[in-house]
Amino acid sequence: MTRNEFDLIRDYFARQPVSRRDVALGIGDDCAITQVPEGCQLAITTDTMVEGTHFLATASASDVAHKALASNLSDLAAMGAMPAWCSLALTLPEPDEAWVAGFCQGFSALAEYFQVQLIGGDTTRGPKSITMTLHGHVPHGKALTRDGAKPGDWLYVTGTLGDSQAGLNYVLGKPVTDEARAATLINRHYRAQPRVAAGQALRGIASAAIDISDGLVADIQHILKASGVGASIDVTQLPLSEALLADVDSYETAQKLALTSGEEYELCFTVPEMYRGTLETTLKHTGVTAACIGQINGSQSLQLMADGNPLDWTLSGWDHFKELDSDRS
Ligand code: ADP
Ligand code: MG
Repeated sequence: MTRNEFDLIRDYFARQPVSRRDVALGIGDDCAITQVPEGCQLAITTDTMVEGTHFLATASASDVAHKALASNLSDLAAMGAMPAWCSLALTLPEPDEAWVAGFCQGFSALAEYFQVQLIGGDTTRGPKSITMTLHGHVPHGKALTRDGAKPGDWLYVTGTLGDSQAGLNYVLGKPVTDEARAATLINRHYRAQPRVAAGQALRGIASAAIDISDGLVADIQHILKASGVGASIDVTQLPLSEALLADVDSYETAQKLALTSGEEYELCFTVPEMYRGTLETTLKHTGVTAACIGQINGSQSLQLMADGNPLDWTLSGWDHFKELDSDRS
């Protein structure tokens, strides 16, 4: 491979749809130079996606780009940060122009929507992988963290849960019976909409927050552990989409999917009683729904409930929780 072929790929990335005023120097020099707004702190997050591990070789380049950026945007959303700048390390087995063109198309669409500017990166040869770093701003001291949940706080999730896993099941070969429904769920898997506006709206309201990337019961443990608290979840309050309910053989299957489905990129957060009213009015402005699914308590464990009765369901994320539970006692 000649250097020129790599230059060609860099050319794709040099054509940026977003041009921010706080970028003094973007792609093209040895470093990018940016200006953090007065009174703000930087929030920085990185995700790596390796072909065969984090995405299938059959996934379209555009979907892969969307997922890479969406997962980083979701991390910023969970901190209440406003996205700004992105850098991209791309490793490709060969300089595949068609793949790069598709990748740039998927990236640019989402980047434009959230006004994220690609300010640099690196392009190397090797097994296909994508490492993306996203920078955002958050007013000084106002970031949402995982360690602020208190007994009595209410537990919420945005959107609906379980759809991403249901979509992945089709990607992995589940027979399609209803084309439109399968398409809806596959779209939920590949094209998650990170809750960026909702995350910022939660500043000053939520006592703790996290985004759901490994599944609700797996991710909520991070809040419980960091905050030194426990929680109960009422599974009858889990928000389920019509598509998911139509897709499963029983209500319980849908509830279990909602508890364990990863890559949902919804937010899970806790709210003190006194801010519940503010939460409702604030979220209305963002157009995002949030469901109250339970409450934080002082028990140091997670309990699933249905109509006031404890459940003893076995879930993949549940076992993991028991490990975490034992190493903190
Ligand atoms: P250097 O040798 O100084 O690291 P490169 O030749 O690797 O420079 O890159 C030239 C310019 O292109 C740099 O500004 C770099 O940030 C940018 N760049 C390279 N690859 C990418 C990429 N995949 N995405 C965005 N910018 C990139
Ligand atoms: Mg380089």
